[in-house]
Amino acid sequence: MLRQYEQIKAKHKDCILFFRLGDFYEMFFEDARVASKLLDLVLTSRGKGTANHIPMCGIPFHAADNYITKLIKAGQKVAICEQVEDPATAQGIVKRDVIRTITSGTYLDETSSDARYLFCLSPNFAGNGPRLPASIVAGATGHATGISFIDLSSGTIQTNQYDSLQRAVEILSRLPVYECIYPISHEHKIKALFKNSSLKAKNIVFSPHEDWCFNPDIAQKTLCEHFSLLNLNGFGIQDMPAAISGAGALLEYLRQMNKQPLRHIDKISIYSDEEYAYISPAATYGLELETLFKTINHTLSGLGKRKLHYWMYHPLKTPSDILQRQAAVTVLKNATDIHPQLKNLLKSFPDIEKSISKLSCGYTHAKDILAIRNALSVLPEMKAATQPLSEKNRLFEITDIPELRELLEKAINPDMPLAKSEGKVIKKGFHPELDGLRDVQENGREWLRNFQAEEIKRTGINSLKVGFNKVFGYYIEVTRTNLKSVPENFIRKQTLVNAERFITQELKEYEEKILTAQDKIFAIENTILLGLQQKILNQSRPLHHFAESVATLDAIFSLAALAQLPGYVAPQISDEPVLNIQDGRHPVVEKTSTDPFVPNDTFLDCDENHLVILTGPNMAGKSTYIRQIAILVILAQMGSYIPAACANIGVVDKIFTRIGAHDDITKGQSTFMVEMTETADILNNMTDRSLIILDEIGRGTSTYDGLSLAWALAEHLQKAKTRSLFATHFHELTALAEEHSGVKNYNVAVKEWQDEIIFLHKIVPGGTDDSYGIYVAKLAGVPKNIIARAKTILTQLELQSNLKEKLTGQGALAQKEGQLSLFADVSSDPVAEALRAKVENIDVNNLTPLEALNKIQELKRMIE
Ligand code: ATP
Repeated sequence: MLRQYEQIKAKHKDCILFFRLGDFYEMFFEDARVASKLLDLVLTSRGKGTANHIPMCGIPFHAADNYITKLIKAGQKVAICEQVEDPATAQGIVKRDVIRTITSGTYLDETSSDARYLFCLSPNFAGNGPRLPASIVAGATGHATGISFIDLSSGTIQTNQYDSLQRAVEILSRLPVYECIYPISHEHKIKALFKNSSLKAKNIVFSPHEDWCFNPDIAQKTLCEHFSLLNLNGFGIQDMPAAISGAGALLEYLRQMNKQPLRHIDKISIYSDEEYAYISPAATYGLELETLFKTINHTLSGLGKRKLHYWMYHPLKTPSDILQRQAAVTVLKNATDIHPQLKNLLKSFPDIEKSISKLSCGYTHAKDILAIRNALSVLPEMKAATQPLSEKNRLFEITDIPELRELLEKAINPDMPLAKSEGKVIKKGFHPELDGLRDVQENGREWLRNFQAEEIKRTGINSLKVGFNKVFGYYIEVTRTNLKSVPENFIRKQTLVNAERFITQELKEYEEKILTAQDKIFAIENTILLGLQQKILNQSRPLHHFAESVATLDAIFSLAALAQLPGYVAPQISDEPVLNIQDGRHPVVEKTSTDPFVPNDTFLDCDENHLVILTGPNMAGKSTYIRQIAILVILAQMGSYIPAACANIGVVDKIFTRIGAHDDITKGQSTFMVEMTETADILNNMTDRSLIILDEIGRGTSTYDGLSLAWALAEHLQKAKTRSLFATHFHELTALAEEHSGVKNYNVAVKEWQDEIIFLHKIVPGGTDDSYGIYVAKLAGVPKNIIARAKTILTQLELQSNLKEKLTGQGALAQKEGQLSLFADVSSDPVAEALRAKVENIDVNNLTPLEALNKIQELKRMIE
């Protein structure tokens, strides 16, 4: 058996092998060591103390799902090895084989309704792998990278190809990708790419896959065979070899993992990000989109949740599409009469996408068929409820699948017990033989009682009894005194002291029936279920279409719930390069903050107001404000209402942010390196239709380096006329507004009151040069002596700085001949020298207020 184990394990080296032994899955050697730790199992062993010592651990097969979930979440792959022949008839060791491999991207997680993408990168590359003809791939270099991805619980492979690998990674960053496959010969290149990209903290499992699967010819054949097509023209990808290569490799990988034909995968669609505004990887992280999602998500079904999540990461770009979705939200928001009914329907709506996938991946669970039955049976009610809406907006259209619905309603017992449904799956009246068998099983006693009564009547023997024992089965017992009345068809079976036992042909047949009924019931149900499974898979396209309609309905219903909240409005959507928001609010901060949220206005265009330099104290609300604008744009472009009094959102094509200081030690990147990488990404990819949010640039290096970079960047944004907001503590940048058109200074107002500072969180025109950092440090609990010392140092520094400014006769950041002159050289000026000496000699800590005033007077006189 161990030899068999080793042979199988050799083919699944990268997996933890669940090896079926009786009622257990056993793991051996290194698998056992790893799994016992991750699953908290006792590590036992065979042959302890010998050279053949074998570490092992095991789990009961019926509890495997929980353990598999844990291993997958820990980034492992699991290969399920089952007995593949009947042990009763097998000769020698029972044949075993891996029936399925479960990986992070192919796992159908029943505990979560979130999407789970398997992503495939298919770069055109030299060497043994596929090499695509330069004439037909994108880009003059002849290099194209295919991207293909699927959420296994859906039935669509999305694919496209791009002329840069980097671009492919950008797409990956906006999807919840759990596993990425790529040609094995590209391992180094792909890993290096991920290491250097600004993709944040994603726990993606990397699965290099055999090169041959990526060969465009082979991939084309794989796809054509799967979809029973002669060519791929119908999908529009015939001239996209890198996309074909990826889609084919993805399908092949899934089939190898599941060992099933995967008929639920019924469509390839070209992933077009042209329709969507691009959210940079840094922005998804910096804007905390997952937190935003939790705030806006009011979906009631798993299908709807996935749809809304996709919409948030894929804001639309075309005003008419946005307005169509927004109009649907308004229609549903106003249709309050159907809200309770829709809520009920959606709340209990099963995740049929997952059920279809599970059936297709070879898990024949009655409960998945039941889920599809239940979903279809509410279809007519859902369709009727949304009929008036669909007349106003086609997003509410739902198409019935009457034949399948009727079949499943007839066949499936809606009340089957989910825990132990076997034998109770098929509805009464669907299959006469099954009904007969169930009758035998359920009404056995009744039948026997009737049989006994009939025989008593027929024979006139009142004491005649029908009984059962394990050795002889069913019998008719007649006491000795009545033996003379026994009819001819009684066959003697057993003699007792006072009685004889008989059987009849009828009783024998009944016995046969009752004893085999259970097995027959299981077998018949199984055959019916397999048939229904095929019928369902034959209809996977319309079923997916139905699931899509329900997902859309739920996502719109969720947006309608948001739209009903106080202070949410439908923004105007236009193609103008403008952002005009009155009384905008940050939806997450507003919801979580205990204080009332202070609304703020925003006006950006591509002309006089395209770059806002936002200064203001720490804790004033700068970051909240600039993020709020990006978030409102995302909400508006996904068709949602937004928290504002009114707004005109001119669609943006890309949203970039550079927010916060964090490093990525795992990628060998320092805080400043991350900051600059993100900045470079913005500068290299922005267009005049983008929205750029910068929260501090250049703070991670020396003041002059940082300020110079921030200044140069602000100048660039000023010239580019891109709508940008730049929050900064470099107050010097406010000078830009005086020199350049298009730049506007704003600051966040605070009120000083009795040595305290009140944050008003109100954005007002103009710059500021106060940061109140020491005050915030005090609020944060920094010890008093440190605060006192910091105040002293600040006073000294400010004094010196003012002095220098005065001496040079220039503003700190006045530009001279195109150069920054922060501080002029004072060493050659005798007055300055004398002043410096005087100031340096002041012992501030031992100065009385009067002495201080006198000193200032003295210093003033020196420069008058
Ligand atoms: P720093 O410069 O220190 O990073 P900041 O100016 O960026 O500070 P934020 O982090 O945006 O300040 O805001 C600080 C806190 O102020 C937030 O956590 C929030 O609780 C509150 N706040 C921000 N804006 C508002 C607002 N408009 N209304 C009410 N509270 C707000």
